[in-house]
Amino acid sequence: HKGEALRDGSTAPQSIIIRKVDSIKQHYQYLKKGLRHLSDAYECLDASRPWLCFWILHSLELLEEPIPPAVASDVCQFLARCQSPTGGFAGGPGQHAHLAPTYAAVNALCIIGTEEAYNVIDRQKLLDFLWSVKQPDGSFMMHVGGEVDVRSAYCAASVASLTYILTPKLFENTTNWILSCQNWEGGLSGVPGLEAHGGYSFCGTAALVILGKEHMLDLKSLLRWVVSRQMRFEGGFQGRCNKLVDGCYSFWQAGLLPLLHRALFKEGESELSQQRWLFEQQALQEYILLCCQSPTGGLLDKPGKSRDFYHTCYCLSGLSIAQHFGNMELHHETILGKEENRLAPTHPVYNICPEKVARALRHFHRLSVTETRPGDVTPSEPTAGSGDQQS
Ligand SMILES: [Zn+2]
Repeated sequence: HKGEALRDGSTAPQSIIIRKVDSIKQHYQYLKKGLRHLSDAYECLDASRPWLCFWILHSLELLEEPIPPAVASDVCQFLARCQSPTGGFAGGPGQHAHLAPTYAAVNALCIIGTEEAYNVIDRQKLLDFLWSVKQPDGSFMMHVGGEVDVRSAYCAASVASLTYILTPKLFENTTNWILSCQNWEGGLSGVPGLEAHGGYSFCGTAALVILGKEHMLDLKSLLRWVVSRQMRFEGGFQGRCNKLVDGCYSFWQAGLLPLLHRALFKEGESELSQQRWLFEQQALQEYILLCCQSPTGGLLDKPGKSRDFYHTCYCLSGLSIAQHFGNMELHHETILGKEENRLAPTHPVYNICPEKVARALRHFHRLSVTETRPGDVTPSEPTAGSGDQQS
């Protein structure tokens, strides 16, 4: 990887790196407008509306741009209308509950982090919904009667741990099911037997971190697979072997490195850096800053593609991972270009800011679940739940 030098061997003039930073204002103007008005290009995401809330709110918190209280309250009321009478959240009002918008809605509400936001979540019904999609083999369906893949295990583990309803019984056999998704390449696939993929590798690994079982993965082969996905020319990541670079994998792939760093450290690996993740952080920052910003605000997959809120969220999330090493106690920053390029840190398990994770856990820890399934024990301490563990 190239470090400081450009591909022709010359050193990057600072002005090239600094040039695009002026668009920070355009970024949050683009994002704030999206909370109130979407163009008809977003019609196809009518069943993913909580995702739009999460992508925009998380992008704004990374840019450290405050959300006006009236807007936050409107988002809470909208997400309340997406909550299903049977528990969990749907892609829009009146639709069926689904694990993906459930994850997005819970994350969005935790980013807002007010009493009003926390009170939207019906935890008892949420637990009912999680049980309704749990399969005997440990996997989860995305919705009742829907498909099974490793995204659902992550969405379920993430919302259950953040809202403090996670029980060992609910995730019985889930560890073994996720482990069976790691294949000969080293990465994880959506279901056992398919091709390793960045999104599924992140979901499976982050779910195992929440369940405290990440050491059961073949960590070294996963590390080898993920670092090989950083493209030696572009500096960004591809999602699968032989695919093109894409800005969103800046999070799905690079986000694995903090999880792996911590897992390898816990396994007694002594050669780990205390300042850097095991990928080329500056090359990734160069790719995002130089190739993935729209001059009119928002970020994108690669030059030539148009901006959207999904890529804005995950390019910024990956940029944050590439800038911040460590956790609240041990922290080292590598900021490419001007200081204005610095984003807030993100929690690599939940992908919301670490203090929002800590606040949500404190809030929901105080509440209790009144009814659990036969054989359930009381909710256990989520393993990734201290909120101060970024690495
Ligand atoms: Zn993408």
